[in-house]
Amino acid sequence: MAKYPVGLRPTAQDSRIKVKCPKCRSEQVRCSTTNSLTEKFMSYFGRLAVRCDGCYHRWQHWVAK
Ligand SMILES: [Zn+2]
Repeated sequence: MAKYPVGLRPTAQDSRIKVKCPKCRSEQVRCSTTNSLTEKFMSYFGRLAVRCDGCYHRWQHWVAK
């Protein structure tokens, strides 16, 4: 396995995104799994359902494509 320098990890398949939780300001934020058709539909338009690992707050985030 190749080692990536910190900060240069491939992000395409990474569930981590550079978003801060609006509630607790944590950066431990990840995309919630897009199981439902609605979430897939919204992610198509650049909307992501994200969830905070710190406080489990969920919200929707716009992603510039
Ligand atoms: Zn939070």
